[in-house]
Amino acid sequence: MNHILNLKCLICGKEYSPDEVAYVCPDHGDDGILDVQYDYDAIKRRITRGNLLYSEDYTIWRYKPLLPVAPDAEVPPLAVGWTPIYNAPRLAENLGLKQVWVKDDGRQPTASFKDRASAIAVVKAQEQGAEIITTASTGNAAAALSGLCASVEQKNVIFVPESAPPAKIAQLLAFGSTVMLVKGTYDDAFELCLSAAKEYGWYNRNTAYNPYMTEGKKTAAFEICEQLRWEAPDRIFVSVGDGCIIGGLHKGLKDLLAMGWIDKMPKLMGIQAEGSSFMYHAWKNDEDVLTKPPVEANTVADSISAGLPRDRIKALAAVKETDGAYISVTDDEILNAIPALARGVGVFAEPAGAAAYAGLVKAVNEGLIGRDERIVVLNTGNGLKDIASAMKSVEMIGTQPHNVEPDMESLKKQLAIINEQ
Ligand SMILES: *Cc1c(COP(=O)(O)O)cnc(C)c1O
Ligand SMILES: [Zn+2]
Repeated sequence: MNHILNLKCLICGKEYSPDEVAYVCPDHGDDGILDVQYDYDAIKRRITRGNLLYSEDYTIWRYKPLLPVAPDAEVPPLAVGWTPIYNAPRLAENLGLKQVWVKDDGRQPTASFKDRASAIAVVKAQEQGAEIITTASTGNAAAALSGLCASVEQKNVIFVPESAPPAKIAQLLAFGSTVMLVKGTYDDAFELCLSAAKEYGWYNRNTAYNPYMTEGKKTAAFEICEQLRWEAPDRIFVSVGDGCIIGGLHKGLKDLLAMGWIDKMPKLMGIQAEGSSFMYHAWKNDEDVLTKPPVEANTVADSISAGLPRDRIKALAAVKETDGAYISVTDDEILNAIPALARGVGVFAEPAGAAAYAGLVKAVNEGLIGRDERIVVLNTGNGLKDIASAMKSVEMIGTQPHNVEPDMESLKKQLAIINEQ
């Protein structure tokens, strides 16, 4: 793959050729996250903005020359990527802003953003002839890997905390994965999965360990900019757990600048749940993310519950280098955002997805946003992923169904009551 220059350690800067190391910088153990570096001149010979106008591939693979796979690599059949971006004038008006868009990654094949990374994982694993792929996950990365593996009959072993929402576990079982429900947190599941992968030589998809996952996630930045006709937005709001998504967006935007396809860097706004806000505090207090101890993670937004964000180096750089900010929101603010987003633009999000919108609301209230800024909110997961939280969110705002007998009499009574309200 001559478009990849090397893999560069984010801690020591040492550069490795892709076949020299499997995942992390050997000098730094599991923390030595690598960044894939490209030869943009070589890529420019294979893809231009003009070519894309004629592309009929509406998946992440439309950007194949910018991805860490061979030109002739076979890709899984599930249609990952090119999720819709909706203009949201009512949300904008409510917030006193001119322009807000919501990009809905709840529309991915397994209903979360994670499909973008897992699609790459499957291609990389098959490139190496791996027999088994493994990952730890709070649920969505697992479902994504599980679904993509099912689409190509690839064996896989998944580690999730036993507290994962049942809908996510159901997906794993339906797709036929071997599922390990770990009696512990996501962080415990992660450690166990790393040990198992080392012991048995399984291909390791883990976020912020496998350097190629960021590369899948960056495709959302490509799509946002292409969907907005290469006029980059001013800010992108996204929720942050391990920090791989925000790091991926940053990487994608840097790629686009290097390609000359956009001319400014959007500010990245990382939203964390108050009960899992390692990055928020590290950023606010200018702490060293490599020595800062893990926090006790506890939030309704299970997908962003991470005591020790695995991609914290990239996640901090994403906000600092783009002059963005971290924002922390409470679980109540997150739950409130579920019906607000659903009613305001018709997008039904799981708590971690709605958190991004809760962050926008807070940023506006705190006066961080100029009225004329062009804002993108990324919904990262579908509301059906966590029905218990969705029900809680509508109860919180006092919405209830009306109980009627199956006759017009009873219906009329109910309608009269509604009309009085
Ligand atoms: C994984 C996930 C996130 C957070 O992504 P990180 O890379 O862990 O920061 C946010 N929302 C949803 C729905 C997710 O599945
Ligand atoms: Zn290193």
